[in-house]
Amino acid sequence: MMEYAFFEGRIVPIEEAKISIKTNSFHYGTAVFEGIRAYWNEEHHQLYILFAREHYQRLLANCRAMFMELPYSVDDLVNITVELLRKNNIKHDVYIRPIAYFKDLALTPKLIGFTPEIAIYTYSFGRYLDTSKGIRVKTSSWIRNDDNSIPSRWKVAGAYVNSALAKTEAILAGYDEAIMLNQNGFVAEGSGENIFLVRGRKVVTPPCWDHILEGITRSAVIKLIKNELVLEVEERSISRSELYSADEVFLTGTAAEITPVVEIDNRKIGSGDIGPITRELQKIYFDAVRGNIERYKGWLTPVYES
Ligand code: PMP
Repeated sequence: MMEYAFFEGRIVPIEEAKISIKTNSFHYGTAVFEGIRAYWNEEHHQLYILFAREHYQRLLANCRAMFMELPYSVDDLVNITVELLRKNNIKHDVYIRPIAYFKDLALTPKLIGFTPEIAIYTYSFGRYLDTSKGIRVKTSSWIRNDDNSIPSRWKVAGAYVNSALAKTEAILAGYDEAIMLNQNGFVAEGSGENIFLVRGRKVVTPPCWDHILEGITRSAVIKLIKNELVLEVEERSISRSELYSADEVFLTGTAAEITPVVEIDNRKIGSGDIGPITRELQKIYFDAVRGNIERYKGWLTPVYES
């Protein structure tokens, strides 16, 4: 079947969605991107885009900060995405990658005087990390990008050199994922995930000013913990040593969903198995994102007319 992408203002066959090696953002990492998931519900015969508006709001806000004024509104981008998913006739879980960049063929690392462009394509990857049995992570020797050097708050391509270094180090050392500390020595996040720990009846996560990406899944999970599990959520700095003695640790992200962490730096977390709070959260989250919980239907944009 023919695959399509949105490129230079139109939906075109994927083979036509190509950029020049001279493209400015390719050289300087100044592209701004998003990762969005859509979940297929077989019973509803429907594809639901998760947090479509929130992702495009973040993308456009990041673009403005990068002097990238795109001629699209949040609604435009959501509508284009719906149209693309329909055109690709997607009837399974899918990942959507919008990427905004400076298309100019110019060799200067700057953000002004250039022409921004946005491309959107779909990508089939199943599980990003194993959510079913819990993963083993390593504290990275790489420090998380400081918000005052390459803003960790923005989803800009260049920031992912930091993620790639940490993730590679972890994989080469035999772990599944890396946890990065910030310049103050506190726990920041994974290479592509936010982090939470459980201590008794309290759930703790680093605050947004601790040099992390303000994850959309992070916000949704905070709401689920408060409203569904009726537990307290503390947003405060976390020391590395506190992770080791936590009852449970889990990572959140669009790709990672809710991934339990069962071992950090060769130390078992809790019982070394997925903890009860993480398990409960996973269940609610997976039901909500697939459109099986009525009160969370507001998170979802249906793709097909019912
Ligand atoms: N931190 C980093 C560094 C990420 O790349 C991601 C993935 N976008 C996240 C956290 C999680 O963010 P979200 O829940 O919005 O996908």
